[in-house]
Amino acid sequence: MKQVKIYCPKCQWVPDASARWLCEPSCGCSWNTFETCGVCPRCGRNWEDTQCLACHRWSPHADWYHEFIPDEQQQMPKTELAGATG
Ligand SMILES: [Zn+2]
Ligand SMILES: [Zn+2]
Repeated sequence: MKQVKIYCPKCQWVPDASARWLCEPSCGCSWNTFETCGVCPRCGRNWEDTQCLACHRWSPHADWYHEFIPDEQQQMPKTELAGATG
């Protein structure tokens, strides 16, 4: 199963639920851009680039999503001894 982690592709900063971005100079709305995939909920502007609140550099919004595959629980193969009768 794939999971997605969201963090800054430049500094690995992880935005939390209280992080806010400003839609400026469009409408000045303040919201969490990762709850709307980079779309301003007020004016509908689609922000293709997202600025990191930690390092203040811009990265494409899609680059913030990092797919990873968690370690699958490996089942130990059963070793059966057969044909030991003699
Ligand atoms: Zn950053
Ligand atoms: Zn806006």
